[in-house]
Amino acid sequence: MTVAASPVRVPLIDLAEQHAPLHDEILAAWSRILRAGAFVSGPEVAAFEQEFAAACETRHCVAVSTGTDALVLGLRALGAGPGDRVIVPANTFVATVEAVSLVGAIPVLVDCDPPTRTISVEGVERELRRHGAAGIMAVHLYGHPADMDALARVAAEHGAWIVEDAAQAHLARCHGTRAGALGHIGCFSFYPSKNLGATGEGGAVTTNDAALAGAVRALRDHGQRERNRHELVGCNARLPELAAAALRIKLRRLEDWTADRRRVAARYAGALRGVPGVRLPYTAPWAEPVWHLYPVEVDHRGAVRTRLDRMGIATGVHYPSPIHLQPAYMQLGRGAGTFPEAERSAARVLSLPMYPELPDAHIDRVAQALLAAMEDTA
Ligand SMILES: *Cc1c(COP(=O)(O)O)cnc(C)c1O
Repeated sequence: MTVAASPVRVPLIDLAEQHAPLHDEILAAWSRILRAGAFVSGPEVAAFEQEFAAACETRHCVAVSTGTDALVLGLRALGAGPGDRVIVPANTFVATVEAVSLVGAIPVLVDCDPPTRTISVEGVERELRRHGAAGIMAVHLYGHPADMDALARVAAEHGAWIVEDAAQAHLARCHGTRAGALGHIGCFSFYPSKNLGATGEGGAVTTNDAALAGAVRALRDHGQRERNRHELVGCNARLPELAAAALRIKLRRLEDWTADRRRVAARYAGALRGVPGVRLPYTAPWAEPVWHLYPVEVDHRGAVRTRLDRMGIATGVHYPSPIHLQPAYMQLGRGAGTFPEAERSAARVLSLPMYPELPDAHIDRVAQALLAAMEDTA
């Protein structure tokens, strides 16, 4: 007696599949480190910093322990501290805003632009004109760059700096310039699920400014520029050698993986264009996004998700609540209705499976399942 096999589930991402062909290469690198016994501040981190700076087309890269630390140390290097107002989008991963809070500065939330869902330049300009700000956190959400040309113009007018939160945007471009090379400082995360993921935690700061790079370099290592001379009150935010070695191996595949993410996005767009109740992600004409996620917006998201799950399709929600409605940020006193676009997006976004190895047949299955789910819930 044969039983019809239920079709395999389509996962949201699949790291095991990404690492299978790299397994031996990574183990060989780790074996060299184990035998040498140099686990921090060694040659792998130094080489990775050079290679990642080259990939981002920046002069400097400083590797750190997490993306959140990259943001915190980037802000500290810029001198952000108590009393400083720092403009952040209301729709981002919480770490962007946390970093502002952690240096003692005041997060000033701004709504997003509906097409790209990145920070509204008009909103930023309004804040700068009314109350001023020390700086702006520009988040390249989902791998689509913020409108950096326009932001740079208004920031320069008001003497504000720009930190790029490029945690989701490795290799993205805005008007031809790489993410990480667009602001005063760029911050990356190598959390395992990011476009470039470490074997554990990891992060990096990129910049063309030698003084800022030097400050971050000192801050990540107890404030010392030379051994046992602690010029700044720093911390320990160093990237381990084992993580750097794996990152170097994976960085060599990042262009190919990015091309594959674009293949997945294009195939989704082809299959889902015009489906009633589904809004596809928008790409600005000046942007080369890298599709960290593929977030559509749908009516009746809860019901659609449940139906997709029953059809074997994993989905995600990035993110279910904007910052001002999170318990930790109720203290900002911005209630529901303050940032309508961020709230609308939070209620409607649905991330479809997105990873470089996703086969075309799976993409088509996801698209068909979404079509059926939309008909069902219409
Ligand atoms: C992942 C992420 C971070 C934080 O990075 P970690 O390495 O997890 O600390 C910050 N901002 C955004 C937009 C992210 O997606």
